[in-house]
Amino acid sequence: MRHQLSNHNLRSASVIENLTDYDRVQPINVSEVEIKKALEDADIPALLCALAMLTGDEALLSEDLRPPTPPMSSTISPQGGMSAEAQRKARTLALKKIIAYRDAGCPEPRVASTEDLDQIMKFLIKDSNEDYLPILRHELGIPKDTGAPDWHKSDLAPHTEFRVAVIGAGVSGIAAAHRLQQAGVEFVIYEKNKEVGGVWWENAYPGCRLDTPNFAYSLSFAQKQDWPQQFSRQPEIQKYLSGVADATHIRSFIQFETEVVSMVYDDATARWSVTTRNASGEVTVQTFNAIITAVGQLNRPSFPTIEGRESFKGQSVHSAIWPQDLDLKGKRVAVVGTGASAYQIVPSIVDEVAELKVFQRNPPWMLPTPTYHHDIKPGMTWLLQHVPYYGRWFRFWQFWIASEGRLPLVEVESDWVHPVSVGRANETLRQECVAHLNTQFGDRPDLLAKVVPNYAPGGKRMLRDNGVWAKTLKQSHVSLITDPIDHMSETGIQTSDAQLHEVDVIVYATGFKTSDYLYPMKVMGRHGKDLHAWWQGDCRAYIGITIPGFPNLFMTGGPNTGVVVNGSAIFSAECAVEYAMRAIGHLLKNQHAAMDCKEEPFLKYNEVIDAGNLTKAWGVVKTTSWYKNSAGRASQTWPFNLLAYWSLTANLNVEDYEYL
Ligand code: NAP
Repeated sequence: MRHQLSNHNLRSASVIENLTDYDRVQPINVSEVEIKKALEDADIPALLCALAMLTGDEALLSEDLRPPTPPMSSTISPQGGMSAEAQRKARTLALKKIIAYRDAGCPEPRVASTEDLDQIMKFLIKDSNEDYLPILRHELGIPKDTGAPDWHKSDLAPHTEFRVAVIGAGVSGIAAAHRLQQAGVEFVIYEKNKEVGGVWWENAYPGCRLDTPNFAYSLSFAQKQDWPQQFSRQPEIQKYLSGVADATHIRSFIQFETEVVSMVYDDATARWSVTTRNASGEVTVQTFNAIITAVGQLNRPSFPTIEGRESFKGQSVHSAIWPQDLDLKGKRVAVVGTGASAYQIVPSIVDEVAELKVFQRNPPWMLPTPTYHHDIKPGMTWLLQHVPYYGRWFRFWQFWIASEGRLPLVEVESDWVHPVSVGRANETLRQECVAHLNTQFGDRPDLLAKVVPNYAPGGKRMLRDNGVWAKTLKQSHVSLITDPIDHMSETGIQTSDAQLHEVDVIVYATGFKTSDYLYPMKVMGRHGKDLHAWWQGDCRAYIGITIPGFPNLFMTGGPNTGVVVNGSAIFSAECAVEYAMRAIGHLLKNQHAAMDCKEEPFLKYNEVIDAGNLTKAWGVVKTTSWYKNSAGRASQTWPFNLLAYWSLTANLNVEDYEYL
């Protein structure tokens, strides 16, 4: 079915109203004592900013209240490192301001100017590079959503037919659809699942939750203040994404349970033919002017190649395709892998299984995060729900802390010689993480010997640990097996020491086919260029978004866009979506049918990326990980800070494209 958009519903205010529901605060009608109690749980730096915006009082941003924000180590300093005295003073001031706001009847917040907002931001970012301000305004989203297209099709090219296929209705697909809708561009979303959410819909294994702070891991245009945790569980994130799909009214444009099989570019018409197959096997072909792929990176489950894997007669499941009726009670269970998924599954199933065998090839580095499973404290939740725009400032603060994140800690230093770490800061991080492991496993030297990684921290994805991993592995019915898997048999897993581990269920927590971008779709570009044949397993793109020979094909979550120690994947996805929108606006404005990335900028860009990745731990360690492809190149990771990606995508470099 072809969905038509009318300019009427595109411009209707209801879309905006629903999205701002996420910002709506409730009036304050509680006593001073209760407000004071709530303030004990407050994140103070962000609260000072919200109150400064609300009241215009610069005293809230005085030098003695400014958080020193020490550099990130294995942990993050609470309250930006503010002294106890500064915290006390800030709480006293905040109490006065909130009471005054209450007593004035909780009026609508004043409209702060960009200059005012920049001033408030500078309170947190101090004398950092002013180049940061546009990206920070974008993430703050006040007074307006700066990621919204600054054009509308009805103004640029009212009579030009232009249809876009969005592939995937996860985080990126929802963002793409929302932006297309804002710009009045006709689109269809193809989603292979029966619901929105992508990876968050699919990964419903026990214990699945975020490991990136939630306020920053959310769409810039759909903020909410009532996250129950800083690292929310999968159902909460799925509920959020489903809510955003509703609030943006994009659902009716989604063709669910419809998988894109192929996309073929036609040189004569400069259009893409997209072939889809729905749940009943019905094949349909539709044509589009452009395609935005939003299929995610951690999407297609990867099963390991292990001899005899198919011969196992018990039940085999993958973490990302978890049967919701799987009953592990009283079963002997093997979990293969010790990455982020296993780390969440193993502690969640340990109490129900009879026996648990965890097969580890390489141990992960773990960042001590004692609050990982904590609920957001009640006072903080109350403040988020009652102080206007506090949620926005809290998100801003989270974003700012993570924008460089642990990048300096994974930096390779050429003059550093060490068997494990790659630089001085990396060595400090290593020692902190080893100390954490010593604390966790000190009473079990047998386990300690197995869990200390022999590769540099940051060489692969670091996990968050609140102690549950050690607690789980120490249980008497759990074993951590580090002898390599030799083969599998009908009854279990045989390791290289000739021991057969008999189990009833094998859980593959073995990750995803991350380097096979756009797999398994067939993608044919100009003059019959076959994308996967051309890539030959070494996927590359220009700024992770466009590829020479594939006009008007825009990728989100494309090659080398994965931020792994700073920020969240949503950030780079939104950058890509906004870049694609700029490109589409440019095509419409100039009446070009299509634009194709030139070879030279593509090659130059990839040289810079490859060199950048070699300056980071993951680029030089010899360990396997989803960051690298089979050729050993780091084809997934973004090696620089967030500002660098923002700067590359914030403008369309028109001269880097050939127009058709
Ligand atoms: P992963 O990080 O790729 O881990 C796969 C695990 O399987 C590794 O321990 C790997 O060992 C092991 N493995 C693979 N093939 C094997 C084989 N043939 N024999 C033995 N072991 C094998 O996958 P994941 O845990 O699903 O996580 C992927 C990414 O998804 C994460 O890094 C993260 O970015 C994201 N994720 C996030 C969350 C969250 O937000 N909380 C949760 C889950 C996943 P080696 O290390 O030796 O290769």
